[in-house]
Amino acid sequence: MGEIIHRSKTRPVKVGNLTIGGSNELIIQSMTMSKTHDVKATVNEINRLVEAGCQIVRVACPDERAARAISEIKKRITIPLVVDIHFDYKLALIAIEGGADKIRINPGNIGRREKVEAVVKAAKEKGIPIRIGVNAGSLERHIIKKYGYPTADGMVESALHHIKILEDLDFHDIIVSMKASDVPLAIEAYEKAAKAFDYPLHLGITESGTLFAGTIKSAAGLGAILSKGIGNTLRISLSADPVEEVKVARELLKSFGLISNAATLVSCPTCGRIEIDLISIANEVEEYIQHIKAPLKISVLGCAVNGPGEAREADIGIAGARGEGLLFKKGKTVRKVPEETMVEELKKEIDIMAEEYFRK
Ligand code: SF4
Repeated sequence: MGEIIHRSKTRPVKVGNLTIGGSNELIIQSMTMSKTHDVKATVNEINRLVEAGCQIVRVACPDERAARAISEIKKRITIPLVVDIHFDYKLALIAIEGGADKIRINPGNIGRREKVEAVVKAAKEKGIPIRIGVNAGSLERHIIKKYGYPTADGMVESALHHIKILEDLDFHDIIVSMKASDVPLAIEAYEKAAKAFDYPLHLGITESGTLFAGTIKSAAGLGAILSKGIGNTLRISLSADPVEEVKVARELLKSFGLISNAATLVSCPTCGRIEIDLISIANEVEEYIQHIKAPLKISVLGCAVNGPGEAREADIGIAGARGEGLLFKKGKTVRKVPEETMVEELKKEIDIMAEEYFRK
């Protein structure tokens, strides 16, 4: 049960009942795929995301129908709602009025000053933050002209340009993302952003790809960023069911000890000494622990050759033996269990340990 690594300090910004930044744990976000004006489908999708561990959800707001659906969606969901708007300040005003907990809009793209002022005033009145979304693929023309192509410095300059517009209107509840689909560029941009300002950073590798390739690309990029203590909230962008994005995000945060409400599975890579059907057991246990909210470390080993001692770090686990399994806790064998009931026994023990964790 590792300690949460200290994050670099940023300004705390409230989003609904959560706070992004400060010394708070990273928050997992995802984005719905359904048409936002289809309230029923959007709410169903959000409920699936919440069940998977999503803590803040974003919806696209391409037109007035979508903006007008916000108030109804808000009534039916339990997590903060972010509304994603491009350019149209009127949609932003409708979404804010409808109860959006945060809007994602780049003030520099809204147009005339009065329009920007109207959005900022509405956000201030409701006490909601604005996320500035810098994207390497859509940097302002003057920045591309200056740097020749998308660079980390250009992205930071873009962020500062949008930040200044908000700060000049005395608005400071700002969150910034610096997305790029090029991994080294994204890493550099987030590193430079973390030095340039102290607003919380929303992490993401945009357009990272399909479930398999996108997971690797996101883990490579975000892993490098997270390891430096940078990042306050994240979304894994995949061409897949958004529930998968949440699962990947949770797994990634687990790798860095940055999530306190998730159990982790450690399973052996298998070899010729294997005594049990380890691959299916590992998958079953992995599925089971999705609902465990205690930070337990669970281990599944194919054999007992190196003994449970190999998994000393684990709180609990099983190791295969001929026709049976050894159930162990903290590196010590507790008892032998028949192969047929091995997984069920492990699940029961996990539940007991999780209960004990919350009773402490
Ligand atoms: Fe091989 Fe046993 Fe190690 Fe698994 S635990 S990799 S089966 S020696």
